[in-house]
Amino acid sequence: MGVIDLDAGATTQMLPEVRAAVTALLEGGLLGNPSSDHLLGATAANLLSAARANVARLVDADFEQVVFTSGATEAINLGVQGVVRRNRSSVPNIVATRTEHSAVLNVLRYLERCRVVDVTWVEVDGYGSVTAQDIEAMLSPETAMVCVIHGNNEIGTINPVDEIGHVIKQEAPHAVYLVDAVQTSGYGLISMRECKADLVVVSAHKMHGPPGVGALCIRDRHRVAPLLLGGGQEFGARPGTENLLGIVGFGKAAELAVRDRVARTGFVTDLRDMFWHQLLSEFEECKLNGHPSDRLPGNLSITVSGLEAHLLQRSLRDKVAFTRSSACQSTSGLASHVLLAIGLSSLEANSTFRICLSETNSKDDVIAAATTVGQQLKTLRGRR
Ligand code: PLP
Repeated sequence: MGVIDLDAGATTQMLPEVRAAVTALLEGGLLGNPSSDHLLGATAANLLSAARANVARLVDADFEQVVFTSGATEAINLGVQGVVRRNRSSVPNIVATRTEHSAVLNVLRYLERCRVVDVTWVEVDGYGSVTAQDIEAMLSPETAMVCVIHGNNEIGTINPVDEIGHVIKQEAPHAVYLVDAVQTSGYGLISMRECKADLVVVSAHKMHGPPGVGALCIRDRHRVAPLLLGGGQEFGARPGTENLLGIVGFGKAAELAVRDRVARTGFVTDLRDMFWHQLLSEFEECKLNGHPSDRLPGNLSITVSGLEAHLLQRSLRDKVAFTRSSACQSTSGLASHVLLAIGLSSLEANSTFRICLSETNSKDDVIAAATTVGQQLKTLRGRR
């Protein structure tokens, strides 16, 4: 038996249709630069436009609002640093939740250390949620930006970004609202229009597209200064020749996410529940982190008291692929800021592991993996 991949929160496998779209381009002969003024360039530009239209449809944005980047980390850097550079106040205030992804967290911490911004961190409840009222309480005339993670990559909790957007536009209409929709876009859960976001971040490899490509959807490009200087690609917001292969794959993944939204959500939710019940039948002392119902379809963040989660992960590394809290966090060696924010101790955070299921998992794999994980938990407890 090969490794069963239950680490979709870190990256998802490309769907066959996505592979086929990328392969067709690779094997299809001459490839032009989308900015070139000849037939090959025009063909490439058409492919770029088709992908842009699909990503726009995915997040319910306008075509011209989609700016392709090398991934979500770059999109977040462009969004946050780009807004700060354009802001006229000397030290703008940024409101952000305590459970943002490291890409947001570390950019904000850095800008704060440089005394370029002042950050107001919004505490979350025990499920990792913030409400529109929590955000509203932190808004002030100095608030230049608000950053909210939509679906949390570690604990799966989904924040009410539509209500939050409504409050921001009423109470602080000047503030730029950034929504990190990396984990929710694959389920068609984000609408830029509905949530009134000024910036929406998405990433192809979290939704069965290829790695190394993402997008920042920008409502008003005048409010975001480009981080790179160069040509006029991506409406001047992100110079550099586009990664056409990656973008074509992203466009196909976006098209499939829109088409299969309902079926995908139902299937992955069933897999998640199946894993959880099978795991509990093997080893009942598992505690689920995150919101019980407002959560990502595929996410299970599980704490087992007294467990050294790295031992569980290491002992199963050639059987089941999963992470402790998140892929980025596992390289830092520190207890997860998200788990600490929901009230876990460092010890409990280090006794936590994350299972993330996706459309490319099968029911048989899920049952086999849950049985394996449950039995290994028993072994580690010395109960076999
Ligand atoms: N935001 C969230 C919520 C994520 O889960 C991730 C990746 O784990 C990122 C941002 C960064 O994405 P990328 O790998 O495309 O840079």
